[in-house]
Parts: sequence; C-alpha cells; structure tokens
Amino acid sequence: MPSVYALVVIGLVGTAEQLGEVTAVDRQAVLGGARGVPRVKIAAGKARVGGGDPRALSGRAGPGAAASVPASPGAGIVSYPRVRFPSDVVYNGGQVIRSAQIHNIFMIPTSVYGPCTPASCWGEPDRIVRDLVESDFIHVIDQYVASSPGHRYTLGRSYINQYTPSGTPFTDADVAAIVHHYAAISGDVGYGHIYHVYFPPGQDVCFDSSFSQCTSNYFCAYHNSADTDIGHLIYSIQPPGDLPGCTMAQPSANGPLIDSTADAIFHESLEAITDPDGTAWWNSDNAGSLGSEVADLCDFFFFEGGLAVEEPTTLWLTTRFYSVAMVYNNARHACTAEP
Ligand SMILES: [Zn+2]
Repeated sequence: MPSVYALVVIGLVGTAEQLGEVTAVDRQAVLGGARGVPRVKIAAGKARVGGGDPRALSGRAGPGAAASVPASPGAGIVSYPRVRFPSDVVYNGGQVIRSAQIHNIFMIPTSVYGPCTPASCWGEPDRIVRDLVESDFIHVIDQYVASSPGHRYTLGRSYINQYTPSGTPFTDADVAAIVHHYAAISGDVGYGHIYHVYFPPGQDVCFDSSFSQCTSNYFCAYHNSADTDIGHLIYSIQPPGDLPGCTMAQPSANGPLIDSTADAIFHESLEAITDPDGTAWWNSDNAGSLGSEVADLCDFFFFEGGLAVEEPTTLWLTTRFYSVAMVYNNARHACTAEP
C-alpha cells in the first residue's frame, strides 16, 4: 500500500484507499544518457505477450539506421527529417475514446521551489492542448476510433493545485487521488474525460511506493486509468517540459520547454484516446516494438551531450509551429504528421 502522502493537496477528498485497482497502461520512458536507463515500455497489470515485464525496445532504429526516404511534406510541415516504418498497431478489442474533454491539472509548488505558473513551468499547456485538438495532426488517429468529424476533442476545465513539496515522490495512487478529487467535484468522469496532471521541476513522481521507477530515473510521462467509486478515470502524468532526458532536440520551433511539453501532451493524449486501458491499439509483433502504442512507435532519440534527445518534426498546428514527434499511421504504414 502506498504510504499516505505527506504532501498537502488542498481540498483533497479522495484517498488511495478509495480507489480501485490501478492498471498501468504506458510510460513514455526516459532513454539512456546519464541515467543509464534503456528505453523501456512497461505493461504492468495486464498480460501482453510474454507477460507483464518491462521490455527494452532495443530493436528500435536510431537516427541514420532507418530508411532515409524523401518525404513529400504536407501542408504546414516544414521539417520532415525522416520517414520511418516501424510496424502497424493492431486492435485488441478494448475501449477507445471517440470524443473527450482534456483537462489540465497543474501542481504548483509553494515558495520552496519558487514561483511557478503553467506558462513558466510547462509552457502554456492549455494552448498546446487547444492547438492539438483543432489540428489536422490529431486526425491521424481517426482510423483507430472510427470517427472523423472535427472538434470531437476539446480543452476542458483546467485546475491549479497549489501544494507544499515534502521531498517525497508522488506515486501513481497519489495522482489517481488528485484526479479523483477534481472529477468528483465536477462530475467529469468516464471515457469522455482525459486528465493530464503536471508536476513542476524538482518534484519526482514514481509509479509505486517502492520509488524505483520515477520521472527522475525511468519515465518521462505515462497514461493510465483507474476504476473508482465515482467511475472510470483516464489520466496521465506530465513532467516539466525541460526534464533532462525527455526533451526535444534543439533548436526547435518554441525551444525545449514548450516543444517538449507539447510532445509529451500529444504523446499521452493520442495514446489515451487510442488505448485508454491498454486493451485497444498497440503493436503486437515480435520485432522490437511489442506493446508499443501509436506514439511510442514514433519516438526516435539520439544522444547529445550524454543525454537522449528526441528527434522532432516541425509542423504547423492550428496557431503556431511545433517541433514534436509524429504518430503511427496504419493507413500509411509509417509515422506521419497528417492523415
Ligand atoms: Zn507511449
């Protein structure tokens, strides 16, 4: 049982004990570098082929190893460095999300870590979500949810949760409790609501109370779901956008903070939509991408100054350019930034 969290979540009514089983769905893992951690996909709590153990995706092609096929850039795409063809995702029969509100919960530390706002800590996530949901880019996933109209996904309510850091990492159960708190107040529960919970620099988040797999040593972000007394909750954890080992290569359209945040938001949003419970769309081949979801397949890293950085594609999304990873497109059997 995770320890009762010492950190003060203002007005928190949910507790870990009230929550049902929490099933890990996905983590956008930290890659190597100074942390010495391989890129890993965790599929805990459910049996994918080969069991639920962490699997290193060492078969993933790195820069220069993949086919260097000239792309024909689509409208608004200014940089399309490399087309890659991992392998298709398959449908495993589970729930997908055809429409949803995306809610942002910002964990704002008190003065221990100095002032922090959603813009200074994460680079305007509300705008990033709006730019995603109104873009052509998001329609790559229409094929997985069998729906194509625009405006199916929208920015929902955003919340600021001011708290006093205690030095203890948050756990997944804590994150679920935070989401539960706001969902219980608003009534925004079920598959029509996706929550992203943002943590500030210096605040570690670990999957469980053993504190072995954390943003400080293991993952950049992950999405998850939980069955609770108020209903099903879909959520992700989001690190500060410039967390070392989780950043987009520079220079990028908006710099490391905004583009790395955007990349993590896009990654977890698109995977929460296409595989909210780990039972819908993921790769089932045995060629190095087993268990990868639609965004995992299109994360390509290289090393710079001893740290892994992600190779971006720069494209126009609704109101500005972003330098982010693409997403897997079964219809084209490739990573693309447009349907
Ligand atoms: Zn992922």
